[in-house]
Amino acid sequence: MTKITKENVVCHVCRKEYEALMIYSWNSTLSGMEIPEKPSCPHCGAMYKRKITPSIGTAKDILMKMLTNADEASEDLVKYSTEISDLKRWEEVMKNMDYKAWENNNNKKKEMVNIKEIVLRKELKDLKDKEEIDAMIDRLIDITKEKINKKNKYE
Ligand SMILES: [Zn+2]
Repeated sequence: MTKITKENVVCHVCRKEYEALMIYSWNSTLSGMEIPEKPSCPHCGAMYKRKITPSIGTAKDILMKMLTNADEASEDLVKYSTEISDLKRWEEVMKNMDYKAWENNNNKKKEMVNIKEIVLRKELKDLKDKEEIDAMIDRLIDITKEKINKKNKYE
């Protein structure tokens, strides 16, 4: 099934608004239709990118990755952010993570939670208590900003 709609979108690179044909398709081929795969900005040519709203679950994953593989964590943030200002929202969700609620959640779903998550969650909570976590998140955001700037320049 395929749905095509006309929508006004804002380019993440040049910030200009344009009308794009958005295609929502569920496993079917667009046979005989001449429609561009992905809309792109008529002003600067940048491909349209859908925004992803920060969720607690994804923020948890990124925080855990920050401890084990910071580069991978920043790659994820690049994927989820179309522009620098999106990072601010991720930063807020990560900095305001409720570790008590996270722990309660882990306890509730005990048999579904792996030991790695528990270890990393405790480590993150510890960094929070020592007031070291915000600086780590800042560093992660800085690395990601550089990556987004580079990417947007060449896209
Ligand atoms: Zn543009």
